[in-house]
Amino acid sequence: MFNLILFGPPGAGKGTQAIKIAEKFGWKHVSTGDILRAEVSLGTPLGLKVRAVMEAGHLVSDELLIEIMESVFVNNSTVKGFVLDGFPRTLKQAQELDQMLEKHGETVSLVLALEVNEDELVKRLLKRAQDQGRKDDTEEVIKNRLVQYHHHTKPLIDYYKNKNLYTEIFGEGTIDQIFGQLCSVIKP
Ligand code: ADP
Repeated sequence: MFNLILFGPPGAGKGTQAIKIAEKFGWKHVSTGDILRAEVSLGTPLGLKVRAVMEAGHLVSDELLIEIMESVFVNNSTVKGFVLDGFPRTLKQAQELDQMLEKHGETVSLVLALEVNEDELVKRLLKRAQDQGRKDDTEEVIKNRLVQYHHHTKPLIDYYKNKNLYTEIFGEGTIDQIFGQLCSVIKP
């Protein structure tokens, strides 16, 4: 099983590229943001719990995310690979992911990071706010999400560098250019 983590700040284009990679290689795309947003719009107990946190641009608790990912793995035990998009986002989540995979005789195969300048990120997120009306794409909340990224998620870069799993790709250019570069380093 190929376990790919697509890594990068909010607005880096993880979702767009994750869908294309999953389609090309026949792997399962798992976006924790999409999973959580679906729970919110369905108004499930989980959705009610996480709604305010997400709308403020803060991170949902590690415990909830780990529970969600455990059920994703249990329910997709026959897939040939995963493209993880938006998970892990904290050191705790990364450690738990390693343990979860280990239980099934698996490991993280590769971490691909999309690198995009902060000015460009803010521009993209504000544009998405206009196009899609996502509640967490207002200027104030965008600032929060970037702060969360710098505080909680960026330390994962060293975690995966130490395991020799980390590769960075420049995330500016056309969608197809970036996709081509990502694919050139994926060796299933
Ligand atoms: P983006 O890629 O633009 O940062 P996502 O769609 O991945 O946004 O996630 C939206 C929101 O969902 C996050 O701001 C956070 O509140 C919540 N979320 C998603 N994944 C995680 C995670 N792994 N840990 C904690 N919170 C998460």
